[in-house]
Amino acid sequence: MNQKKQIIIIGGGIIGLSCAVKLAEKGAEVVVLEKNKVGFGCSYGNAGWMTPCFAMPLPMPGLFFKSLKWLLNPESPLYIKPSVSPLLFHWLTRFMLAMNQTQANKAIEAMVLLSKVSLDEYEKLAKEFPEVAFEKKGLLMVSHTQGGVQAAVDEMELVKQHQIPGKFLSPDEVRQMEPSLRGPLRGGVYFPDEAHAEPLKVVQALEKKARSLGVQVIEGVEFFKANIENGKIKSILTSQGEMTASEYVLATGSWSEEIAKGLNLSIPILGGKGYSMIVPPLSTQPKYPLMLVEKKIAITPRKDSLRIAGTLELVDQDFTITHRRVQAIIRGAREYLPVPEALELRELWRGLRPCTPDGVPLIGYSSRVQNLMLACGHQMLGLQSGLGTGVLVADLMTGSTTSLNREIYNPDRF
Ligand SMILES: Cc1cc2nc3c(=O)[nH]c(=O)nc-3n(C[C@H](O)[C@H](O)[C@H](O)COP(=O)(O)OP(=O)(O)OC[C@H]3O[C@@H](n4cnc5c(N)ncnc54)[C@H](O)[C@@H]3O)c2cc1C
Repeated sequence: MNQKKQIIIIGGGIIGLSCAVKLAEKGAEVVVLEKNKVGFGCSYGNAGWMTPCFAMPLPMPGLFFKSLKWLLNPESPLYIKPSVSPLLFHWLTRFMLAMNQTQANKAIEAMVLLSKVSLDEYEKLAKEFPEVAFEKKGLLMVSHTQGGVQAAVDEMELVKQHQIPGKFLSPDEVRQMEPSLRGPLRGGVYFPDEAHAEPLKVVQALEKKARSLGVQVIEGVEFFKANIENGKIKSILTSQGEMTASEYVLATGSWSEEIAKGLNLSIPILGGKGYSMIVPPLSTQPKYPLMLVEKKIAITPRKDSLRIAGTLELVDQDFTITHRRVQAIIRGAREYLPVPEALELRELWRGLRPCTPDGVPLIGYSSRVQNLMLACGHQMLGLQSGLGTGVLVADLMTGSTTSLNREIYNPDRF
């Protein structure tokens, strides 16, 4: 770059910090504004999976009838509470329209690419910051039903087309590999190249890296509104007064819809509320990260504990905890693992995944506000595609050639 770009990034989650590091590495002067503490939004308690094999968008073809069934069951893995909301109506219409194979194929290709780049980047980051507890021991999908095994095999075949290896395992092979599992196992699929890490530590490592590159990370500063003149942001108003930069990045996760409205942009992002719990190690502690297929529950072994995460309930900034859904996750995990009846919850957390109706993030310049880069809507994949998003955003903002950009990210598409 000839002249240093001054960039303000709004939002200090995995996406904001990934963009900060990659922009600073390209020589930009970067400020990150975070209204609370860095990493304590949705990036705080996720399952920690960096798994390119999970690149499926939420509106996968075939989900239509399942989602109608789920609509009626508050304990289902995906729940949409019926309500009269124009945002929900708009979101659901776009969600149904996106449920087709052409869209899914494009989304998978794009997200696999971002996730693979991210995985390599996280591996490098972990060498510098071992506290992120990066482990590349693969991921095991298991099921008690034939239908669940078939679904895992179908996913394996789908991602094989993108050079992600997977192996079908018989019930005995699953038990041998993961002796903690119990119940009528029908088989599973093992993806050997996937990784996991401690999600908060990853964001904090990126914060340290960003600061070492000269990025100013300011916590406790809330973005309120932008002063727009001739289609460009001239300055922004924050809880600490007016600030200016030549360009801005919006990386505010599930808060983006509300913020975008103030910028006259339509970003139909709803929160996909999910829970995660940290519990003491089990009597037989799982060795591998496990996906319990039909339950859609993610199990992540940690050094001295276990993380159990799951469910997706579409909400609009609703952070209440539905204990019925929490109990459904615990019961689901107990069917597969020796989870005691009297379970000590060391931590119970909920986060809102920033969900776009087509299951694809918005990454790119807005055509309506020319100096605004959008980097939001990463749904269930924000950690695994985080550093890749940072690379792409930095390439776009510094005019570098990039092989990561895809039309499908177009932020004007809604
Ligand atoms: C249960 C669960 C499990 C998950 N498991 C995984 C997983 O294993 N792998 C994976 O890849 N993804 C997973 N995810 C999804 C992942 O956590 C999200 O996609 C990701 O955290 C989104 O990151 P983000 O930076 O966009 O949003 P956030 O982390 O929410 O960051 C946005 C930040 O913007 C700040 N902000 C908002 N408004 C303002 C404002 N006005 N001014 C200043 N700052 C503001 C917020 O405080 C917040 O810190 C999971 C999610 C859940 C809920």
